[in-house]
Amino acid sequence: MVDPVVWDIGYLASAALFIVGIKRLSSPKTAPQGNRLGAYGMLLAVLVTIARMETEAPGIIGWELVAGGLIVGAIIGAWMATRVEMTGMPELVALFNGFGGGASALVALSEVLKRINSDDIPSDNVELYATWIAIGLSGLVGWLTLTGSLMAMGKLKGGFYIPFTKKDDRGRSKWINFPTWGPPWLNTVKASLLLLALFLIWMTIQDPSNKDIIYSLVAISSVLGILFVIPIGGADMPVVVSLLNSMSGIAAAFTGFVIGNNVLIIAGSMVGAAGLILTFIMCKAMNRTLAAVLFKSFGGGGKESVTRTKVGSDPEEVAMVCDGISKCVIIPGYGMAVSQAQHAVKEFADLLESEGVEVSYGIHPVAGRMPGHMNVLLAEANVPYEQLIEMDDINSELPETDVALVIGANDTVNPVARTGEGPLGGMPIIDADKARVVVIIKRSLSVGYAGVDNDLFYEDSTMMLFGDGKKMMNELNASIKEL
Ligand code: NDP
Repeated sequence: MVDPVVWDIGYLASAALFIVGIKRLSSPKTAPQGNRLGAYGMLLAVLVTIARMETEAPGIIGWELVAGGLIVGAIIGAWMATRVEMTGMPELVALFNGFGGGASALVALSEVLKRINSDDIPSDNVELYATWIAIGLSGLVGWLTLTGSLMAMGKLKGGFYIPFTKKDDRGRSKWINFPTWGPPWLNTVKASLLLLALFLIWMTIQDPSNKDIIYSLVAISSVLGILFVIPIGGADMPVVVSLLNSMSGIAAAFTGFVIGNNVLIIAGSMVGAAGLILTFIMCKAMNRTLAAVLFKSFGGGGKESVTRTKVGSDPEEVAMVCDGISKCVIIPGYGMAVSQAQHAVKEFADLLESEGVEVSYGIHPVAGRMPGHMNVLLAEANVPYEQLIEMDDINSELPETDVALVIGANDTVNPVARTGEGPLGGMPIIDADKARVVVIIKRSLSVGYAGVDNDLFYEDSTMMLFGDGKKMMNELNASIKEL
């Protein structure tokens, strides 16, 4: 018999890898290494668990099943990760959160059913309370996270398609779209369902072998997840995805208590805490309180129609404006990700720097469609990390900036946010409008994610370069070289 301390040492080593890994994620430079360390930590945790099971309860898990699960999971994971576009990353993160919550809920469910079927219900009251509360909370948070994340994924994708149905005019099968729907009474329904779910957890303790109460809890938690996400729209979605990430960790930690697995408790708590910290950082970046995000139902519900016009400039004109300047700030947004313009942007920066221009990048915390979106893309193009400047710091530099080049960003530079009105009201923005000249590259005057028209486009000091981000950057670079 192996001393149980051996397993704890294995779990401790894996937890240490998680902790060092998460620390390394705090800088773009060390993030890839942090990611690898986390993956090694998870591999170690899986191996220790399998070895422990084989020693303590041989035969409980069939090797075929474990190996099959690992192989199928690894193939699907690798396929999804390599196939996903950078713009589709938030949906993938939402899906992973959902799977995390669902996995924890399934483990807790199978544990409680196993105990009921084998008549292994704790006779000691303290143990009964502790185990059944942990099972109940894991189920509540886990199922809610699963359905809520699938809903978030569907909303970010613009809907789910139904295979084998008639194709629409864009060649896609039919889509089920999820509206942003939140009548005021919905909050009362959600609060009532939450109370009912907590009551059911209490009922499971009173009648611990009653499977019907457990199945009712599964159903109510799943409905709660859907109702929780359906009123949330547009600009608030990243906060919700981050919160669901935190909840998937919390569900895992509860499940760790249920099955007595220390590494699950540690890793789950870390994901829970990290997700919650990120949630609050993002709320701050959008000047929204978490309560307002969750219960006020607004943001991106509709789209303003654009009625104004603006004459576009051409790359040669912009190249001439950039000639002889001393400071340029590049402000990337979602459109840079869509057009994959990061390499052309880096070339533009190199060209200016070779003329002695000081170049930096202004990074808004919610630019793009996921936290860190711009950092990842610019790192891919080998932009030095020191040039990526956070919003508050770059804002103090913009009044002394000759040219602010905004590529594919819209909401994050929209001055309407300063008025405190509408979906973007109060969101801190990058003050591109304070630069002497603003160059904006996008395909049209159309609105951004939050659906709000942008006054910055119509300012006298703004030059619009209409076209695909990468194409326009390449043309601008060619014009600069010709000067
Ligand atoms: P926006 O979504 O506000 O605007 C992006 C702009 O890019 C569009 O107006 C579009 O204009 C332009 N664009 C699209 N495709 C191209 C292309 N191929 N070439 C050039 N331009 C293109 O982007 P921001 O980054 O400024 O703001 C992010 C928004 O997304 C915020 O509202 C944020 O809250 C939200 N959000 C953020 C998440 C995050 O975690 N970062 C997650 C989910 C949402 P046009 O069609 O005219 O080209």
